This record gives sequence, C-alpha cells and structure tokens, in this order.
Amino acid sequence: MKVVAVGGVAGGASCAARLRRLDENAEIIMAERGPYVSYANCDLPYHVGGVIPKQSSLIVASAPIFKSAFNIDVRTNCEAVSIAPKLKVVELRNVQTGEVTAESVPGAVNIPMGQLRSRLNELPRDREIHVICRSAQRAYYATRVLLQNGFNAKNISGGMLARAMFKLGAKEQELTTA
Ligand SMILES: Cc1cc2nc3c(=O)[nH]c(=O)nc-3n(C[C@H](O)[C@H](O)[C@H](O)COP(=O)(O)OP(=O)(O)OC[C@H]3O[C@@H](n4cnc5c(N)ncnc54)[C@H](O)[C@@H]3O)c2cc1C
Repeated sequence: MKVVAVGGVAGGASCAARLRRLDENAEIIMAERGPYVSYANCDLPYHVGGVIPKQSSLIVASAPIFKSAFNIDVRTNCEAVSIAPKLKVVELRNVQTGEVTAESVPGAVNIPMGQLRSRLNELPRDREIHVICRSAQRAYYATRVLLQNGFNAKNISGGMLARAMFKLGAKEQELTTA
C-alpha cells in the first residue's frame, strides 16, 4: 500500500503515524507545504507573548525523527496541488523550486530533472529503466540524457496520466522525473 498524507502537523502527522502502526510495510509519504512538519500550535500565543522566547522550542518532531521512528518519507516545502482520486494520482509541487512531481507509481525513484546528470550513479546499468513524468515531455528529455550516458532507458508514452487512465501495472524499475 502506498499513501500520501497531505499536510503534516496535527491531523496529517497523526494519520501517517497511525498508518505505520497499522501497516509495517506501507510506503508512506507526508507532504507538508510549510517548512515544519510538527510543531505546537497551542504554544504559539506563548511564543508571541515572549513566555517561550525560542521558536525552536515549539518544534515537536522533525523529518529525520519521522524517518527513523516511523519510516515515513516527510517532504517539507512540498504542496499538494491536485488530487485525482479515480486516477490515484497526487501532484506535489516543491514550493521552493516550483518543480511538480506526481506520486502514484509504486517503487518509483523520483529524480528532479535538474539533478539527473549528477545522480546517474544511483541508477542501474544492468536493466531497462522506464522513465515517466506527468505527460511524457520531461521524461523524453530525461530518457535522452540516460541514453547518451549509456543506460538502457525508455520513455513511458503518455506519462503518469495515461498510465493511471489505462491502469498500467508497475514495472520492475521506474524513474519519475520532474
Ligand atoms: C494559536 C493556536 C492555539 C491552539 N491551541 C489549541 C489547544 O490548546 N488545544 C487544542 O486542542 N487545539 C488548539 N489549537 C487548534 C489546533 O492546533 C488545530 O485544531 C489543529 O492543529 C488542526 O489540525 P489540522 O491537521 O486540521 O490542521 P493543521 O495542524 O493546521 O495542519 C494542516 C497542515 O497542512 C498543511 N497543508 C495545507 N494544505 C496543504 C497542501 N495542499 N499541501 C501540503 N500541505 C498542506 C498546512 O501547511 C498545515 O501545516 C490551537 C490553534 C492555534 C492556531
């Protein structure tokens, strides 16, 4: 099972942690558009009033804590910009870079386009790599980069939206680019 919790802090973080307790093997992503994933809302007035002087005292848990304690993939500064329930596609935008990725391929590795050339060493050379993005345009460029660097790569025509529409099965190794 793969779950994307939209928003951290109270409901989102509680939901993600509860899901982990229910399913040890679920792939859980928590997308929070702000920079903090867990902080004490109720202490904000005390911070504004100077009773709690340090902002950092309000932080309850950080992304590394969620990763180590619950194996939850926390993405801060990451906004859900669209959800297609029938297609089971959630589009996530990095609020700092504006890059958009779509989460729905189980086991996919997400490498933003701008990082692809510097992260080639993370990719397998002994098998075919399927490259997918939202509509296949960025994946086309990413596939060209991979082919030029000696990888066995194929662009998934139609991208994530077509894949979801036609309910295509997940392949052994898929790479999403943004
Ligand atoms: C000053 C203050 C004091 C409070 N004191 C108390 C108290 O003493 N006791 C009490 O019970 N309650 C208190 N509350 C209320 C409590 O904090 C809220 O009820 C609770 O936080 C609501 O939880 P939530 O998950 O719905 O929203 P939030 O905790 O606000 O979490 C929602 C998160 O989702 C993120 N988000 C929204 N849209 C997107 C998107 N599209 N993509 C990605 N991320 C997104 C937001 O950035 C936010 O971090 C207080 C609230 C405030 C502001």
